[in-house]
Amino acid sequence: MTTRIALIAHDHKKDDIVTLCGEYVHVLSRCELVATGTTGSRIAHRHGLPVQCKLSGPHGGDLQIGAELAEGRIDMVIFLRDPMTPQPHEPDINALVRACDVHNVPCATNMSTARMILERLAQRLDAPA
Ligand code: PGA
Repeated sequence: MTTRIALIAHDHKKDDIVTLCGEYVHVLSRCELVATGTTGSRIAHRHGLPVQCKLSGPHGGDLQIGAELAEGRIDMVIFLRDPMTPQPHEPDINALVRACDVHNVPCATNMSTARMILERLAQRLDAPA
């Protein structure tokens, strides 16, 4: 079954997630991608990857992704949060991260962890069946 990955980045982290997606285009192109609105359109435009874009985060995009995750339709989350800037939708962000913990879904909230998860995924995709 195709791995379904959620991608989210706060404004100060959007350049980072675009860079990350560039590093792992060969992996991400073999997965289904879902993202909050602005993050998703940045990634799609820059890398030509097909991304299912939800609402923008402050308008409920994190909650939409959280709902899919709770239904078992998200395999991993890369959520580059900005720890230095208060967000108007902080409760939604906490709900999504909590849902990852409730359902034991890997959730990377910084570039180092995101790279580790994607390296592991690359190994798994390349492993003989
Ligand atoms: P955005 O949402 O990708 O629409 O900017 C991300 C967020 O702020 O949660």
